[in-house]
Amino acid sequence: MSSPDLNDADRQAVINVINTPILSMGKYTNDFEKAFCDLTGAKHAIAVNSGTAGLHLCVRAAGISAGDLVITTPFSFVASSNALLFEGAIPIFVDIDPKTGNINPELVADAAKNIEKYLPRTNRQSPIVNRQLKAILPVDVFGQPADMDAINAVAKEHGLAVIEDSCEALGATYKGNHAGTLGEFGVFAFYPNKQITTGEGGVIITSDDKAAHFMRALRNQGRAPGDTWLQHTHLGYNYRIDEMSAAMGASQMSRLDEILSKREQVAAWYEARLSQIAGVEIPFIESFTTRTSWFVYVIRFDKKINRDEMAKRLDARGIPVRPYFLPIHLQPYMVEKFGGREGDFPVTEDLGKRGLAIPFSGVMTEEEVDYVCNIIREELTLYV
Ligand SMILES: *Cc1c(COP(=O)(O)O)cnc(C)c1O
Repeated sequence: MSSPDLNDADRQAVINVINTPILSMGKYTNDFEKAFCDLTGAKHAIAVNSGTAGLHLCVRAAGISAGDLVITTPFSFVASSNALLFEGAIPIFVDIDPKTGNINPELVADAAKNIEKYLPRTNRQSPIVNRQLKAILPVDVFGQPADMDAINAVAKEHGLAVIEDSCEALGATYKGNHAGTLGEFGVFAFYPNKQITTGEGGVIITSDDKAAHFMRALRNQGRAPGDTWLQHTHLGYNYRIDEMSAAMGASQMSRLDEILSKREQVAAWYEARLSQIAGVEIPFIESFTTRTSWFVYVIRFDKKINRDEMAKRLDARGIPVRPYFLPIHLQPYMVEKFGGREGDFPVTEDLGKRGLAIPFSGVMTEEEVDYVCNIIREELTLYV
């Protein structure tokens, strides 16, 4: 499906670390963090050991706690909602834009005004007192920023924090500004299928001094500045990144533009071929997206084509594919907790039924793209 884009310098960076005794909390973590401040202009970058950990720290820093409400999207990787559940907060889902798959800002505005209408089924009986709307958590889906100006306008009107889940959008820009800088907090992730990888890892960016200090303390077992190794001012976690990961990440960041350009090229090869195939929709890019940071390449089949049947046929021909995304409100534990049902978010469910991620990475060749596209064309002809 995907492949990390590692070179000898990235590998050497890891070897350099393991030739020293400092394997955590060292210079490479600082170097890695600095690369994010340099790229995005954010005042603070805090490296952690996963994107999920980064989202969780933002939820804590935004003061979101049990029973609080946060407007977010059901069309995402589950971690964006899970970070809220870790603190007992309640995700208020709103549906998405059918073209991009990003959260629909008009529905965000409506939910902020009429929150009772959007409460999950299992929360509708209990009184709204003590339930405070605290934040909006948009996701930059598949590497394209959400419509953040519109979302920030709602946040401003209602006094809400904005946590931008940019885990799929490192290096993307919205009206010329970097994904991750568009709300108060931005989070990136580096699992091996992401644009750059550290094996496991994440980075939070923010320009809020107080929140940054708090998140640094929480990352490190709750140790505030001045605490000794066994003093813990806050309830914290071990969300530290190790030095091997940070060194690999710093090396990858030094050639981010090259890595993203290669992915852009692969996306362009796909677009040229797939746009000629009837029954296949290619990704839609908004005019306010000034750079897409291609994370996955998700095509959509026409409604009359059975996506699962096509997935089976492609798989049988050696093309790895994956449905993207299965809606969060329909995941078993979410159904149990919040009573989500089929039909609650029709656009999310429709894209969830028609979308298919096809093989994608910056190390794919034009011949490989050709091969995939030819098989998609053949299987569609056989099937339709
Ligand atoms: C990858 C991803 C995450 C979490 O990243 P991990 O590093 O795997 O914890 C969060 N949100 C979205 C939208 C993602 O794609």
